[in-house]
Amino acid sequence: MSVCGAAADRGLGGNEWVSGTPSAALSREHLAQYSDLAVTWMQEYLRIDTSNPPGNEMRAAKFFKKILDEEGIENRVFEYAPGRGDLWARIPASSHVSHGQPDMAHPTPEQGPAKRPIILLNHMDVVTSVAAHWRVAPFSGDIKDGYIWGRGAQDMKDEGLAQLVVMVMLKREKVALDRDVIFLAVADEEVGDTGTDWFIAHEGDLLEDAEFLINEGGENLLENGKVKYVGVDVGEKTTFWLHLVAHGRPGHASRPIPDSAPDRLVAALDKIIAYRTPLRVLPVVDEFLRDMAPYEPPERAAYYRNIRKAIQDKKFRDELDGDESLNFLLRDTISLTMLGGSEQTNVIPAEAWANLDVRILPGGDPHEVLEALRRLVNDPDVTIEPLEPNFRVANYSGTDNSLYAQIREVAAKYFPGTPVVPHITSGYTENQRYRPLGIVAYGFNPYTATDEEGNTEHANDERIRVEEVRRGPRILFDVVVGVAGK
Ligand SMILES: [Zn+2]
Repeated sequence: MSVCGAAADRGLGGNEWVSGTPSAALSREHLAQYSDLAVTWMQEYLRIDTSNPPGNEMRAAKFFKKILDEEGIENRVFEYAPGRGDLWARIPASSHVSHGQPDMAHPTPEQGPAKRPIILLNHMDVVTSVAAHWRVAPFSGDIKDGYIWGRGAQDMKDEGLAQLVVMVMLKREKVALDRDVIFLAVADEEVGDTGTDWFIAHEGDLLEDAEFLINEGGENLLENGKVKYVGVDVGEKTTFWLHLVAHGRPGHASRPIPDSAPDRLVAALDKIIAYRTPLRVLPVVDEFLRDMAPYEPPERAAYYRNIRKAIQDKKFRDELDGDESLNFLLRDTISLTMLGGSEQTNVIPAEAWANLDVRILPGGDPHEVLEALRRLVNDPDVTIEPLEPNFRVANYSGTDNSLYAQIREVAAKYFPGTPVVPHITSGYTENQRYRPLGIVAYGFNPYTATDEEGNTEHANDERIRVEEVRRGPRILFDVVVGVAGK
């Protein structure tokens, strides 16, 4: 079986028209206009410097607001701190039916209550950049070599822009909706999550008990010109950072102290580095690996088809240790990242410390991890404490719902033969904040990217192919209309 999607065969020109999708009902002329708008607006959006820190997201909120106002789309801006703000916009269910204009799909409004809303969530801030390291200035928005360049081109001004264009498409095309479509652009995702935290705390009613949310995350990997998989992030691990401190008698380094603080610390870290956290197979990871099995060599494929059995196999477990992209899916992980001891080479300090970046699978209990490490270290002179007093339990959304089904359907149209796979990301997204509100929250990206392009996220030369910017909004439109259209 080939991994291939047909998109490459059709040419990823960003202009192709895919029959059987909601967007295929729009005129070719309109579709081309939306693609043109997407490129122009993407350039403008990338030119707005929202490097965080400090953020200045109000600049981006004003950019969105101007467009939404011009299009007649209801919106509100909340400047919750100087220069920092969130923007909320909404196209209500069936809003256009009452205008007496012909609806493109179904002219008659259906009776009965609307379904719960879908939220299109994006963050407006970007990580910092050092212009000297870039081939194209990070806030130029320039088009060069088939790419639009700029900080945020992958994370996530690209997706925020696609969401904006979808709102404009829904409005202009007077799409009859059976649920509200909410656009929510927040500040400060990259540093403190204050935008989302503020919104949920102060304007949570505007989330209207939504059923679905689409946010950053997800990966549609383009390999050798073909889409290898459409990855939907259904969950994240949660960070649980730990601080170790070893205590001991200080002294002159010319007279070694056998159980000095640094020695104790190293002994504790030695145990932690050798420690293998328990393996645990989440249902979504099981589903992901079974979906990916056909694309793996025979031995690996056999493991993937029955991962619960594979983790009993010592050979597989040994392989797992060296497989960075698989290991984190099957266990909580621990990375040693920071170390400190004496300020002077000839002084044995009374304290030596280390920080661990621990990432816990959905459903895992941070307290249990902490207790396991304390038992393992088993030294009363080494303390282990969380770096932050409050930590969150990781969560994930299942796949048995109409949004996931619609993503499958749309992906099958644009990328025939390409598997749609649920994935747990090793990173963090704000979906974690919205799931406890009862919302099915996914990382889904309407763009494809090669490994090289995807890796420009948070790195130098961040960029996106122009053809992706042209096509992405259409793919997202087809997902949204499939879920929210009448
Ligand atoms: Zn992001």
